[in-house]
Amino acid sequence: MRKITIAKGDGIGPEIMDATLKIILAAGAKIEIEEIEVGEKVYLSGNTSGISKSSWDSILNTKVFLKAPITTPQGGGYKSLNVTTRKMLGLFANVRPCISLHPFVKTKHPELDMVIIRENEEDLYAGIEHQQTDEVVQCLKLISRPGCEKIIRYAFEYAKSYARKKVTCFTKDNIMKQTDGLFHTIFDEIGQEYPEIEKEHWIVDIGAAKMADTPENFDVIVTLNLYGDILSDVAAQIAGSVGLAGSANIGEEFAMFEAIHGSAPRRAGQDLANPSGLLQGAVLMLNHIGQNEVAEKIQNAWLKTLEDGVHTYDIFKEGTSKTKVSTSEFAEAIIKNLGKIPTTLKPANYANSKPIDLKPYKRKPAATKVLKGVDVFLHWNGLNVDELGEIINTLKTENLSLNMISNRGIKVWPEGLKQTFCTDHWRCRFIAKNGSIPLSTEIIKIQDLALQKGFDVIKTENLYEFNGKAGYSLGQGQ
Ligand code: NAD
Repeated sequence: MRKITIAKGDGIGPEIMDATLKIILAAGAKIEIEEIEVGEKVYLSGNTSGISKSSWDSILNTKVFLKAPITTPQGGGYKSLNVTTRKMLGLFANVRPCISLHPFVKTKHPELDMVIIRENEEDLYAGIEHQQTDEVVQCLKLISRPGCEKIIRYAFEYAKSYARKKVTCFTKDNIMKQTDGLFHTIFDEIGQEYPEIEKEHWIVDIGAAKMADTPENFDVIVTLNLYGDILSDVAAQIAGSVGLAGSANIGEEFAMFEAIHGSAPRRAGQDLANPSGLLQGAVLMLNHIGQNEVAEKIQNAWLKTLEDGVHTYDIFKEGTSKTKVSTSEFAEAIIKNLGKIPTTLKPANYANSKPIDLKPYKRKPAATKVLKGVDVFLHWNGLNVDELGEIINTLKTENLSLNMISNRGIKVWPEGLKQTFCTDHWRCRFIAKNGSIPLSTEIIKIQDLALQKGFDVIKTENLYEFNGKAGYSLGQGQ
């Protein structure tokens, strides 16, 4: 028996959770269920996180959480329970299998069968944003080596465990050479440990276009948080319906499983909703806890039921569908089909899938880090960049002198183009004359000199070299 935590959520949540639990218990899942309350009621009782301390204790104890969709009340102050849970429990991988159910569910891509594995904790989702000038705000894109290693290793291990043949990586490293570049580099590094798996990398724009056009050419896709967020919805939609997909959020110790759709409040309490998304989440959960046989049995009974044309209202279509059923009737039909195998759709086969066992992250020896200079950012309302360049060029320390000024990343001094549009946010790059700065106090000195000249210094970024490789990008046009 494996203890799990469940939450029935809001809207259609309780109905689809009841249907899901009925099916998985009938299939022989060896689980002991602990129920907690999350969502709307908890939020409205004044708890802005949507989850109580005792509910956390249950999840921390069982380590496995099957969650029905919840309603986040409108208006400020309520924190997304999903984002909080992912971050608090270190659920670094979001796994979303998307499969076409052609000809039973309409899709333009009858052979689509792919799994999107999205990094879940980093990237622009760290929520570190600042307004720095009247005209400019920034959002920090944070990418870490452990973050990349964990998600990329997970993708390869997933491919190995589920007999998938290819892992495709999507980045935008032609533009973001440091952040996306690190993800791509680590994909190449870790990929070498899996010679039996085919590997490819696409720049995300053309890769996404190809994925939407010929998804049958993709197998497992691994990518950063933002691209994965967008692409996984595209993938679920072109597979036929976002209402049929489940997802897993996996961490080193904890895991959360859910449907990808929301609480559909207008359908609540009518025994109408399709429980398939949450059931797919439950199948992922059973595989995760090593109950592969039960997972396979449920998946095949679900496929068989869809094949039989027994459909809830959302996928019911005259011609292909035969019987329009309620949530509970759909669950009953699946239970009757337990032990049966689909004949047209490809049967699930999880017999050889092992729970994914990840190597713990090992920190590499520290690199030789050399301070090469500093970017000093200014809020300056002037328009004449030559005037700015002239004054800033007089700021010098023993080692540091002005190398260039850029505006929104584009070099505007020296020798900028008059036509380049400039905002009030300027980056002044100072580089060490002799290759490095022995004392970082010089960074403070240069900042102090700018302040003395009356400039509004809004931030600085140190420029480092790691093992001889620049840890910063050149200005565009430099
Ligand atoms: P939604 O996914 O709830 O509904 C979108 C559309 O799909 C609606 O027409 C709905 O009737 C239909 N639909 C969704 N699931 C269905 C199912 N199982 N069977 C049949 N039809 C289904 O999205 P929304 O309307 O934008 O959001 C409603 C609420 O859900 C909001 O409060 C939102 O914050 C929340 N939400 C929660 C989660 C989550 O808990 N993971 C995810 C997304 C949205």
